[in-house]
Amino acid sequence: MQYDDNGIFAKIIRKEIPANIVFESDNVLAFEDINPKAPVHILIVPKLPVATVNDFEPDHAAIIGELVLAARQIAKDKGIDEKGYRLVFNTLDDGGQEIYHVHLHLMGGRRMAWPPG
Ligand code: 5GP
Repeated sequence: MQYDDNGIFAKIIRKEIPANIVFESDNVLAFEDINPKAPVHILIVPKLPVATVNDFEPDHAAIIGELVLAARQIAKDKGIDEKGYRLVFNTLDDGGQEIYHVHLHLMGGRRMAWPPG
């Protein structure tokens, strides 16, 4: 899928529009979801211009790992690591993806239902 350089998350990464940033490294940015679906709802994005999980390449493997390691650290910082949390990549229409900059949802602070809707 074509990557849109003028998308919301691209602008957040460039700090052109504000977000409540909770974690930043050379390759990864994490910020609070503007419309949280759980008491803790953080979006973790690679700074790379990648639209969906389908667009990851094998040489992105290290950065994909950094997303999960960032999630693990943020879960700890937010105090939800021991009770548990959910990590989700919504992908394309059937997956419920609305923003086409790939992002990992970290959700917790309540018991998550399964299966999701
Ligand atoms: P998706 O449905 O693509 O997996 O998730 C997109 C998420 O981005 C949604 O949970 C939505 O609430 C969040 N979101 C949409 N626009 C903004 C925004 O401008 N700022 C922030 N922080 N989150 C946003």
